[in-house]
Amino acid sequence: MTDRVEAVVIGGGFGGLLTGARLREAGVQQIRMIDEGGDFGGTWYWNRYPGIHCDIESTVYLPLLEEVGYVPQWRYAPGEEIRQHAIAIARKFDLYSDTMFHTRVTGLTWDEENAEWRVTTDRGDHFRSRYVVISSGTLTQPKLPGIPGIEDYRGHTFHTSRWDYGYTGGDQTGGLEKLAGRKVAVVGTGATGVQVIPHLARDAEHLYVFQRTPSSVDVRDNRPIDPRWAASLQPGWQRERMENFLTIVTGGHADVDMIDDRWTSTAKLQRQMLTGSVDTNICAEDLDEMADFRKMDEIRERIDAVVQDRAVAEILKPWYRYMCKRPTFSDFYLETFNRPAVTLVDTADHGGITRMTASSVVVGEQEYEVDCVIFATGFEVGISGVLSGTLPVAGRGGMPLLGHWRNGPRTLHGFYSHGFPNLFHLGSLQNAAAVNFVHVLQEQATHIGALVGEAENRGARWIEPTAEAEEDWAATIFRTAPKNFAFQSECTPGYYNGEGNPRPVNFMYGPGPVAFHELLRTWRADGHMDEVLR
Ligand code: NAP
Repeated sequence: MTDRVEAVVIGGGFGGLLTGARLREAGVQQIRMIDEGGDFGGTWYWNRYPGIHCDIESTVYLPLLEEVGYVPQWRYAPGEEIRQHAIAIARKFDLYSDTMFHTRVTGLTWDEENAEWRVTTDRGDHFRSRYVVISSGTLTQPKLPGIPGIEDYRGHTFHTSRWDYGYTGGDQTGGLEKLAGRKVAVVGTGATGVQVIPHLARDAEHLYVFQRTPSSVDVRDNRPIDPRWAASLQPGWQRERMENFLTIVTGGHADVDMIDDRWTSTAKLQRQMLTGSVDTNICAEDLDEMADFRKMDEIRERIDAVVQDRAVAEILKPWYRYMCKRPTFSDFYLETFNRPAVTLVDTADHGGITRMTASSVVVGEQEYEVDCVIFATGFEVGISGVLSGTLPVAGRGGMPLLGHWRNGPRTLHGFYSHGFPNLFHLGSLQNAAAVNFVHVLQEQATHIGALVGEAENRGARWIEPTAEAEEDWAATIFRTAPKNFAFQSECTPGYYNGEGNPRPVNFMYGPGPVAFHELLRTWRADGHMDEVLR
């Protein structure tokens, strides 16, 4: 393509879709959505493993339900329902017309004279756009473990985010009939492993589960959404539920807990992860430790109640504090270990799998011959393609964005930087994060849509914060970002605590997402757009 569009949105996950929708509402005509996948959905495009579900309640996780006119069928939606909803949003807001799928943006260069971005891709495109929005995701790059000998293994392998149904048979609901007669290894017992393992156990001749750190596995209690309840919903219902959920899980007060699940009931314990400790008051800390201990004991007791083999039950018990690792939920996972054809292999004493040979996985001196190894080993945690260096951006005067950010990101509200007009970032960068990240993305998309809409109304040439505004926001982030890492540093390694090296979260607005969203609304209402529109 060598044409010119009004807006480019990089990333077709919910962040990109929400921005596309808001830009469409703001009157932008030519919106070019670009994604490396072959369709919309982002993480739900790539992750299609058997058992995939979202463990945030679907009524608050799936965005724009009222706009699209849909009420989810399940309290915790299966992946395919979520992916179809992403497609429905794209259709509703006519976001397919200019798409570029299977395409990676390789460079963005600001053209001062024409006040537009020059965009290049890995397929030789070279086109222009007035606005660019980057929403390239945070957990996108599949991570394989550095097990010695992993390259010598001659059996079949794949990562859960690239499921090989040609090898296993079946689909996302299970029925992996081609695994009959095959010995299968699965590495990893995080949120993905917990969902996939019951299906593998049902269909493989034998399943070896290689565990390094046990997950905390709480009750799931999934159920269909009552159509009578769905029919009773009044306009505005989704916003109300989303706000209610966000308020409660970030430690705020709400008179009613509308979602009332395992996320909302453990809100206080989640707060300690974000802030390091809830309070400097010793008594309050003690109370939190007791609540934490009780919660984790409840999770350990459930294992004793379900798993018949005492030794296996002990291996499955998480010993660390709640939220040290991402909590998981399942009503099938623990039962799996009562099956005779399932072996739980504890690798903790060896720091993980020792090595792999041409035909086996080895832990200590014990070899396990398997036909297939499935890696449920998670993702590299990045902020966006920009910070990882894979998407070079040159702003005014050819200034590289990473050069401008050499001492850390510099933005106003996490969205845009001085010297990089009409370029916006979505994600957790100098703003706020939450367990329901789609809610955060929705507020971000709304803000960008409002800025672009106003710029178009006024005929502004560009949207760009001043250097002073950027400095002020950096100072606000520095002042308010959580600085107490007592909680995280005691945690077992994982991506929540930088694999055991908790770093200052200088990307986070300390007061949290509810306050951040209010700050954005007030900023817009108080006429501050004047300061960024030229
Ligand atoms: P993950 O949470 O990073 O878990 C990776 C697993 O692989 C861990 O059990 C880890 O063990 C294990 N592992 C890594 N290297 C290993 C090695 N060398 N030897 C043995 N074990 C090894 O990845 P994930 O389960 O794919 O989940 C990633 C994130 O995706 C989640 O936290 C969540 O944010 C999201 N997710 C969400 C849902 C949902 O329902 N909303 C579902 C799935 C995933 P250690 O713990 O010992 O490191």
